[in-house]
Amino acid sequence: MLSRFLRPELAALPAYVPGRPAPVGPGGVSYKLSSNENPYPPLPGVLAAVEHACAGMNRYPDMGNTAVIAATAARLGVDHDQLAFGTGSSGVLYHLLQATCTAGDEVIIAWRSFEAYPIAIKLAGAVPIMVPLGPGAVHDLDAMLAAITPRTKMIILCTPNNPTGPAISHDDLVAFVETVDGRALVVVDEAYVEFADAPPRTIELIKNGTPVVSLRTFSKAYGLAGFRVGYGIADPEIAVAVRKTAIPFGVSLPAQAAVIASLEAEKELLDRVRLIVERRDVLLARLREVGHQVPDSQANFAWLPLGARTGTAVETFSAAGLMVRGYGDDGLRITVGEPEACELAVEVAATLL
Ligand code: PMP
Repeated sequence: MLSRFLRPELAALPAYVPGRPAPVGPGGVSYKLSSNENPYPPLPGVLAAVEHACAGMNRYPDMGNTAVIAATAARLGVDHDQLAFGTGSSGVLYHLLQATCTAGDEVIIAWRSFEAYPIAIKLAGAVPIMVPLGPGAVHDLDAMLAAITPRTKMIILCTPNNPTGPAISHDDLVAFVETVDGRALVVVDEAYVEFADAPPRTIELIKNGTPVVSLRTFSKAYGLAGFRVGYGIADPEIAVAVRKTAIPFGVSLPAQAAVIASLEAEKELLDRVRLIVERRDVLLARLREVGHQVPDSQANFAWLPLGARTGTAVETFSAAGLMVRGYGDDGLRITVGEPEACELAVEVAATLL
C-alpha cells in the first residue's frame, strides 16, 4: 500500500542482489572470484594505522578529507581542488550524476559495462543510452559518438572495461574527446587503471582544460574494498560541485587512515599489483590454450563470452568451489585471485568445452 510514496521508476530498476558467500567445493575448496577484489589483505602497517584512528571514532571524520586529498594530490601531481572523494568511486559517480543531470538528460554508456551505470543514471532522473560493445568486447567509440543528441549530458567510458577487460588507448581517447567537442562531459571510469599497461593520460587532459573527469578507487589495486573510498579527478569547477552533492562525512575515519597509510606503503602495494598482472596474463594465456575465446584484459579479471552457456558454466565453477560472476546470456567474469584459485579456474574452464 505504501508503494504510492515511492518513485514509480524505482519499480523498473533491478533489485539489489546481495553477494553470496563463496561455494565450498570438493576438499573444502572455496574461492571468491566474483567481485574483482584484491586477494591480498591490507598490509600490517595499514591495519595499525586504522586501529590507531579507531581510538577517535567518537568524533566525526574530517569532512573535507584534507589529509587524504593532500596525500592523493601529491601522489598524482594534481591540485587539491581537482579532487573529490566519496564512499567508493560508485559514491563519486552518484554525486557527479546528481551534480550534472536533470530529468530527461541522456548519458551514453557502452554495454556491457559496469552494472551500476544504468541504475545510477536512472536514479538521477536521466536516461541511459546503451551502445553495444564492438568486436573484441571493446568500446565502439564511433557508435558512441553517433549516439550524441542535444540531450546528451555525459558519456561514460570504462577503461579497462568491466566486465570484459579491454582498455581504450590515449590516442583513441584524445580523438574521441576532440570529436565530442564539448557537447558532453566525458567521464572515464578508471577503477582498474593500476593494472593497465599504457592507460590513457587522463590527468594530462584534465590539466589542459578538456571536459574529462577520471573516476578512481582504492577498492581494487590498493585492496581496500571494505573501506569504501574512491575519488574523482576533475576541473576544480566540477570537483567543487561533486563535493557539494556528496553525502556529509562519506569517507569514514578508519577509511581515511587506511588510504593515507596505503599511499605511504605504495611501493609494496604496487609490487602486489605486478604479481596480479603477471597472474592475469598467465590466466588469459591458459584459458586461450584450452580453447576459449578470451578478449584482452588490462584489468584484474578475465572474460569468457559463453553466450547461452553462461548460467550452467557458473554452476560448474560453483560446484568446484569457485564463485565467478555470470552476466545473463553474455558471459562470465573470473577475478584474478590466489594462484591456486586461478589454476583451478583454468581446469574448470577446460571442462566447459
Ligand atoms: N567502476 C567500475 C568499473 C567497477 O568495476 C567498480 C567496482 N566493481 C566500481 C567503479 C566501483 O568501485 P568502488 O565503489 O568500490 O570504488
